Amino acid sequence: MNLSTPIEKISGIGPSFQNKLKKLGIKTAEDILFHFPHRYEDFSNLIPISKVKINQVCTVQGKILEIKNNRSWKKKMVLTQAIIEDKTGAIEAVWFRQPYLIKNLKKGDNVFLSGKAVVKGNKVYLSNPVYEKISQFEPLNCPTDETGKVKQIHTGRLVPVYPETEGLSSRWLRYILKSLLFIFKDKIPETLPEEIIKENNLLPLNKAIWQIHFPDSKDLAKKAQERFSFEQLFFIELLVLRERARLAKEKAVAFPINLELIQRFVKSLPFKLTDSQKKSAWQILKDLEKGRPMNRLLEGDVGSGKTVVAVIAALNVVKAGWQVAFMAPTEILAKQHFRQISKLLSDFNLNIGLLTGKQDQFRSKKLKNETIEISRKKLLEETLKGKIDILIGTHALIQDKVKFGKLGLVILDEQHRFGVEQRAKLCQTRQVNLTPFAKKSSIDKKERVIPHLLSMTATPIPRTLALTIYGDLDLSLIDELPKGRKKVITKIISPEERKKTYDFIKKEIKKGRQVFVICPRIEGNNKEESERSKTQLNWAKVKAVKEEYEKLSKEIFPDLKVGMLHGKMTPNEKEEIMKAFKDKKIDILVSTSVVEVGIDVPNATVIIIEGAERFGLAQLHQFRGRVGRNKFQSYCFLFTDSSAKKTKQRLKALVSSENGFALAEKDLKIRGPGDFKGTRQWGIPDIMMNSLANTRLVEKTREAAKKILIESPQLKKYPLLQNKLKKFRKRIHLE
Ligand code: ADP
Ligand code: MG
Repeated sequence: MNLSTPIEKISGIGPSFQNKLKKLGIKTAEDILFHFPHRYEDFSNLIPISKVKINQVCTVQGKILEIKNNRSWKKKMVLTQAIIEDKTGAIEAVWFRQPYLIKNLKKGDNVFLSGKAVVKGNKVYLSNPVYEKISQFEPLNCPTDETGKVKQIHTGRLVPVYPETEGLSSRWLRYILKSLLFIFKDKIPETLPEEIIKENNLLPLNKAIWQIHFPDSKDLAKKAQERFSFEQLFFIELLVLRERARLAKEKAVAFPINLELIQRFVKSLPFKLTDSQKKSAWQILKDLEKGRPMNRLLEGDVGSGKTVVAVIAALNVVKAGWQVAFMAPTEILAKQHFRQISKLLSDFNLNIGLLTGKQDQFRSKKLKNETIEISRKKLLEETLKGKIDILIGTHALIQDKVKFGKLGLVILDEQHRFGVEQRAKLCQTRQVNLTPFAKKSSIDKKERVIPHLLSMTATPIPRTLALTIYGDLDLSLIDELPKGRKKVITKIISPEERKKTYDFIKKEIKKGRQVFVICPRIEGNNKEESERSKTQLNWAKVKAVKEEYEKLSKEIFPDLKVGMLHGKMTPNEKEEIMKAFKDKKIDILVSTSVVEVGIDVPNATVIIIEGAERFGLAQLHQFRGRVGRNKFQSYCFLFTDSSAKKTKQRLKALVSSENGFALAEKDLKIRGPGDFKGTRQWGIPDIMMNSLANTRLVEKTREAAKKILIESPQLKKYPLLQNKLKKFRKRIHLE
């Protein structure tokens, strides 16, 4: 057997388990070995029975004196009761609802039992202890400690607990891992260069893999985790640094800073730029000046004014005679950008195009405020000819048919909302579409030129993660909101306070303000939904846009103008509604999460989120960012009838923190790394997410990666590492 032996050929794994493993993406012996526990049960407190203390978790070892099934007379539940004895005494063990145990555990068996001792009446017993029969040990085929002593795997030690999905129990995994670890003992080739291991005081691979599954101590478990975290981060850093080096060799068009133009634009704005905006814009312009492709991430909380910074960069590029592609994740947002950017640039005599979804709904904006509808075909033609200065759009922009004549800059808004593949596609686009222009320009035909890239996000990811994964990007931060913005007042609203809140809304609308109402879904109970409600408790009660719209417009606010927006409407319908809302022809907009990112209606001051518990913190923060975009005091009301502790904790985090960065970190803490949205798609193992919070480790790995790359830029000196890196790259699809 070797590491790539398929699971079908491993004894002890039958067809049903094979399927379950495959669902987890586990296909080979190696995959199993690298399927790590997410925590440990501490059963290491092995004591004589006479020392057992009430309410303490312990492990005892002894002989079964008797074992039988009984029925509890009150609840008619099957109890399995046993008495265990060692040299110091005897204790009872009780298992609930596991009648089959007596088939496995017999009188006279020598066992380990791990669990908590409880007291009921005057009886002390071990409640539902984990058991392990000593006869199960074949001395050669199970974990040993360093001295070669045989060790149990389910009891009497730190016991690995694996994420239990697809019906794979930790008990079963431990059993399989036990024998695999034995087979591969000291035989797994080391991936990290030796000097890196030494310098960073890491466990060698073979020891680490043993200790991560069956640690001899908490300390060693931690050291093992650290080794693997280090390794993963090290791989990421290698990829990132190599990507950076690759980009540094590429050429891009240098755009000199057109100061007069920029100043004229900034003066034309209805507001003054914040210092952060100015600084970020300057960093971007400085990048564009170099003949190397910019690769910059502009981070700024919701409402901090990223769009206008991007427009400054775009203006500088188009006025030098080149084109800009501006991509947004939703059609509604793309249209809003089209409208807003056209307006912002109305004095600059530009052609701005809009390219969205399936329907022929494409326009180009020429001069002042004149909007002309042109066909999709024409729009694409003009884009190819370089006549469209800025093409704004959704994913539609990355279709093969879309070719730019002279693409100088790509702007990606809400970049975290794009899937890995889309981002990869965009990067390809960055290279492919350049051929036509290279012929006509002063740049040598043979020379490859890459457009600059500016990504933007109100990052829902913690800083260290950003630095690591996006480490090949330069970072610009907008860390202040425009002056005069008031903190959005956020409140959790219980069902009893609903009426009061509606009254409050009426007052706001009377003052001339507008309101968003967000519902978790579009329609009421249809068949599919009720199917779902069987598995998802309370789903039936979840507010649906259509019903809520009916209710609000007819019963609650009959004299107000209520509108409805959701993803199943046609692009035209959506556009009309958004326009009406923007033009204040609608007071209350009932919507699904389609307005989650980017939507900008500064006159809206209240956002109600129905079923708030159903949204993630980062998402709620984005919703909240739809209001507070003006000098008016704004409000975010979180409607929930859930009283679950975790829910409350999460919603409270939103109430108490107004800053997206802090919130992302809180989210990570509350939900645990495994759940963290936006990282799953990177395929980063849970265990590593913890280490991402560890800035020191991130720095250490970066140093190590730099060192190795200086020594051997192509990693030729480290073939094994090169190989592993290739696989790793495939797995996490870095840009
Ligand atoms: P985000 O960073 O979330 O993309 P936007 O670019 O949509 O934010 O800007 C939010 C709102 O703030 C817009 O209405 C925009 O016109 C306005 N805005 C941007 N910069 C400023 C500023 N310096 N002063 C006042 N308002 C601004
Ligand atoms: Mg935005």
